[in-house]
Amino acid sequence: RLEIRNLIRRFEGKAVVDDVSLSILPGHVTCLLGPSGCGKSTTLRMIAGVDMQDSGQIYVDGQLICDTQFRVPPERRSIGLMFQDFALFPHLSVGDNVAFGLSGTKAEKRKRVTELLERVGLLHFIDDYPHELSGGEQQRVALARALAPRPRVMLMDEPFSGLDNRLRDGIRDETLALLKEEGTSVLLVTHEPEEAMRMADEIALMRGGRIVQKGAPYNIYKSPADKEAVAFFSDIN
Ligand code: ATP
Ligand code: MG
Repeated sequence: RLEIRNLIRRFEGKAVVDDVSLSILPGHVTCLLGPSGCGKSTTLRMIAGVDMQDSGQIYVDGQLICDTQFRVPPERRSIGLMFQDFALFPHLSVGDNVAFGLSGTKAEKRKRVTELLERVGLLHFIDDYPHELSGGEQQRVALARALAPRPRVMLMDEPFSGLDNRLRDGIRDETLALLKEEGTSVLLVTHEPEEAMRMADEIALMRGGRIVQKGAPYNIYKSPADKEAVAFFSDIN
């Protein structure tokens, strides 16, 4: 479970994230939707621990991981990341990429790597290198790598935007199924209305650093809070 309370981040005196609160249950996906520059990535960076809020708290499974006095380092937050440009390590094999964030014995690591690669249907690539795989295959390896240490929370910033349409639907569904099985709380940023409708349990609309509306996808689609939201959903039918 991810909980963020009253997060504020200012750059040069201006609040680009302005009192944002969210709570995401295990196995649930919240989609953060909003125009360019509204503060989505800044919110994710604070949760990941690579940027520091000016005020507010972040909790994972009820444990405080960050406030203005106290800060758990990024690698100890039980948070996985999947970004569009968050590439695999080119000099490591597929298996070593997935094993990268794992601790434990060699046999334990091998077991987890095998289990995940099998789950995404890519076990036969375990000794190959990323450049030998297609974009979609690389993305599935990136998902396996992000999930390997069993993070409680997954942050995804436009994770599928580098893929062509044909591949995207399949990978979205596969990713969603795997995240649900693992019981991970997911915060997903996307520009794609279909992706939000398909993947989200809850949608949060963000404007100018603030959450202006929050609810089930169907409810947001049915009664959007503002014109921008209407426009966003207008090409779905
Ligand atoms: P996009 O959809 O284009 O990715 P976003 O919602 O992710 O946009 P952010 O990257 O969070 O937007 O940026 C929010 C605002 O904060 C922008 O106006 C941006 O210029 C500003 N900003 C982000 N990082 C910094 C920084 N390090 N210093 C100053 N301003 C910043
Ligand atoms: Mg962004």
